[in-house]
Amino acid sequence: MKYYIITFGCQMNKANSERIASILESKGYQPASKINEADLVVVNMCSVRQSAVDRVYGLAPKFKKLKEKNSKLKTILTGCILKEDKKKFRKIFDSIWNMRNYFDISPKCQSKSLAFVPISNGCNNFCSYCVVPFTRGPLTCRDHQEILKEVKDLVERGYKEIWLLGQNVNSYGVQRETDAKQKTKQTRKINFPKLLKMVNDIPGDFSIRFTSPHPADFTDELIDTMAKCKKVAHYLNLPVQSGDNEILKKMNRSYTIEQYKNLVKKIRKKIPDINLSTDVIVGFPGETKKQFENTVKLFKEIKFNMAYIAKYSPRPGTAAFKLKDNVALDEKKRRYKVLNDLLENLKRPAI
Ligand code: SF4
Repeated sequence: MKYYIITFGCQMNKANSERIASILESKGYQPASKINEADLVVVNMCSVRQSAVDRVYGLAPKFKKLKEKNSKLKTILTGCILKEDKKKFRKIFDSIWNMRNYFDISPKCQSKSLAFVPISNGCNNFCSYCVVPFTRGPLTCRDHQEILKEVKDLVERGYKEIWLLGQNVNSYGVQRETDAKQKTKQTRKINFPKLLKMVNDIPGDFSIRFTSPHPADFTDELIDTMAKCKKVAHYLNLPVQSGDNEILKKMNRSYTIEQYKNLVKKIRKKIPDINLSTDVIVGFPGETKKQFENTVKLFKEIKFNMAYIAKYSPRPGTAAFKLKDNVALDEKKRRYKVLNDLLENLKRPAI
């Protein structure tokens, strides 16, 4: 019996697919090199953008053809799935798996040198455009001993690059309350900087990266730890999402652009050769041309090494879904191009 996994979306999903592969192989399945050789197809989906959801719907005719050739073929859907989409997906897939509990499974890493290690799952932040708190649930953190054991094992098996993953990776052990005051409270003895230091102290020749941190949880302790730990790569994706304070507020991002710039300044002071990338959304509901220009201004000031630019896509169930998606698609495309061209024109070293 053979399996084939299709993965959409982020590194977290890739990490989960490696864990799914491990589960299937423990049950006697072998990997298929092509989808038409498989007896079991698993789709690990992402709901962050409607286009990604549409691609999963688009698999229906393919599955129909495959089932005509192989009547025993089973299809499974997992990953980030919105409640609203689940009913429709039940008509396409034979079953739907809840992806919350892949943590304890050792992964079957696809790469010989790069391994993804989830340290937390879910998020309590409820950024107004984001489905993660709905699809993955509240933040849950893995026990640090379990994480260290997994990294040690991967390093002993020769892995050279370890990525620590979480939707809000630096909230490990510390949670920001979602009330108006955005208080923080320590929920574990080990917070993210301490965990990073412990991973760094594992003997062996390897490097460490992590993604994605939230600017509001990026502490001085974390900057110092990054600067001091020799195995931590001088690489950082620090999602800004917008260069305008009003839009950030509407996004429920809990920092101002001044705080973000100050954070970048502190990071660059301690780690001058940091490779800095960001995530940004253009065309958020109500984003005026003037507000978008503040994002352009930020890009010119910060000179990111790289940026992942997304055109806003309304997601059912989120707070922003109730707002009018009133920036026309052509205008979103224009704003995307402006930022993309700006990135191209800045002389930056490649990541
Ligand atoms: S912090 Fe990230 S994962 Fe959490 S709600 Fe915001 S965008 Fe989504």
